[in-house]
Amino acid sequence: MKKRIAILGSTGSIGTQTLDVVRQHPDKFEVEVLTAYNNADLLIQQAREFIPNTIVIGNESKYDDLKNALSDLPVKIFAGSDAISQVVEMDTIDIVLTAMVGFSGLVPTLNAIKAKKTIALANKETLVVAGELIKKLVLENNVKILPVDSEHSAIFQCLVGEGRNEIEKIILTASGGPFRGKDIDFLKKVTPEQALKHPNWDMGAKITIDSATLMNKGFEAIEAKWLFDLKPEQIEVVVHHQSIVHSLVQFTDGSIKAQMGLPDMKLPILYALAYPDRIKTNFPRFNFIDFPELNFEKPDLNSFKNLPLAYFAMEKAGNMPCILNAANEVAVYAFLCKKIGFLDIPDIITQAMHKLSYIKNPGLNELIQTDNETRMYCETLIDRIII
Ligand code: MG
Repeated sequence: MKKRIAILGSTGSIGTQTLDVVRQHPDKFEVEVLTAYNNADLLIQQAREFIPNTIVIGNESKYDDLKNALSDLPVKIFAGSDAISQVVEMDTIDIVLTAMVGFSGLVPTLNAIKAKKTIALANKETLVVAGELIKKLVLENNVKILPVDSEHSAIFQCLVGEGRNEIEKIILTASGGPFRGKDIDFLKKVTPEQALKHPNWDMGAKITIDSATLMNKGFEAIEAKWLFDLKPEQIEVVVHHQSIVHSLVQFTDGSIKAQMGLPDMKLPILYALAYPDRIKTNFPRFNFIDFPELNFEKPDLNSFKNLPLAYFAMEKAGNMPCILNAANEVAVYAFLCKKIGFLDIPDIITQAMHKLSYIKNPGLNELIQTDNETRMYCETLIDRIII
């Protein structure tokens, strides 16, 4: 039986790499649903190649383009954010791979869990913003969340076969991004072009900036807290610039397990889709002789303030991670548009975390409201910045 997959965000970096994986294993996987927000041209091309049951475009103004381009195919076409949130409930879907960017992943993921679908989670912001809600729904509906993020896939793989053995701590590895070893004076002047050049991983623009600021690692710490039921003090971050050790688990006997391999997102994507099986691939293999030295160092928390900000939000919990995420999304976008500097990103997030009202046990509506209010507040801050 082939696994039938819905890919939310099929035109992004993870989405296109997931389709590469499906293309290489047509006997194992079948594309049932594709959704994209804006890139109609690529969505049309993907629909022609994979002939899914249904496609959805978030931007409603592109509906007619899709309809006209695909009129000869038996593909159902819908448009709008609500359609993306609803399409995940289709009976014929086995796995929903969530690869959209940021807060927009939240409601579709919640709906997919309620519809008892297995989730291959690539949208970490969902767990950052609403980890508590998601965890409750996952237990109620008895669904599995399979991590696609490489670090969490590593930890997940280290835990296979460990049953109830307790985790002492996990160690998330961070590449350190393009500005590893740089000081505040250097960071003040960096451009989006410099920040977008990631040394090891080929990713979308938003996550590449998050990687350069270390916010990505902060989000991953929060993601790990919810996925593996950990306390903040059990989650350690170590910079490992070769990105070969994808993360580690230390058990209560002191033993450490690591998962390793060349940095290629197709590996964790395939693991999540094929779980619990491993499928033979022709991916390039890691060779120790090519990497005689693997290095590990402490993250620089003075220059990269987003990481301690994320830990603060994780410890505070409630709607604080939601404020962190919304402020970061707005600030990263403003940086990409050259409206603010690189170091304005942590400044804006810090101010938002002080300004917005704290809610200890937010429901979905309060999270949506927090997200909106934070975005509006941060826009006013950005308008005042001149660079
Ligand atoms: Mg990652």
